Amino acid sequence: MKKVLVLEDEANIRSFIVINLKRAGYETIEAGTGEEALEQLRRNPNVDVALLDVMLPDTDGFEVCRQIRAGNKRIGIIMLTARTQEMDKVTGLMTGADDYVTKPFSPAELTARIDAICRRATGEAAVAVGEISFPPFLLNTRNRTLEKNGVRVKLTQVEYSIVQLFMENAGKALSREEILDAVWGKEYFGEVKIVDVNIRRLRIKIEDDPTNPKFLTTVWGFGYKWGA
Ligand code: CA
Repeated sequence: MKKVLVLEDEANIRSFIVINLKRAGYETIEAGTGEEALEQLRRNPNVDVALLDVMLPDTDGFEVCRQIRAGNKRIGIIMLTARTQEMDKVTGLMTGADDYVTKPFSPAELTARIDAICRRATGEAAVAVGEISFPPFLLNTRNRTLEKNGVRVKLTQVEYSIVQLFMENAGKALSREEILDAVWGKEYFGEVKIVDVNIRRLRIKIEDDPTNPKFLTTVWGFGYKWGA
């Protein structure tokens, strides 16, 4: 059974989420503060997905996200944002979140997002044989790692999936929609903008000059391509 950490300080919203996740077949762990969430993760290192509310009494969800991500690249992280926090979404993704859901959300939407992240994590771990070499990069599909000039580049699961997709389709222009379908899944409810945010973050990690990318290049009005 997949384990989901629910960090939400408002008890009624938290129990609403928990009831619906249990109904959908997930095991849940609850936290009402950022500190509690980090403590719960220390006690339960096998949590698959963390849902992080942004507005918390002791800290904010982005800081919790950053701290979780610093020690755990595998966990899926979904931010729970309010409608007025449009800019925060981008900040959240830059600190290592995989996705965000805007309040108020339906139980169906939330479970679809969690399902998509879980499928991606398990499905892709099973594929994976060997290596893809694109000097100075080496992608190891067995342990899902990327090296640049022999040095490990720390990637989230989503970032890794994007790099693998591009390397497997080197030289081919991929539209934002294709990238969204391949990495987030066809059932994904979110906006295509999430692709741009992840690409921007990836460029910071892999390009020599992120403002003048040589590897993950832009195909204007369409999408992105691996290589010039
Ligand atoms: Ca809150």
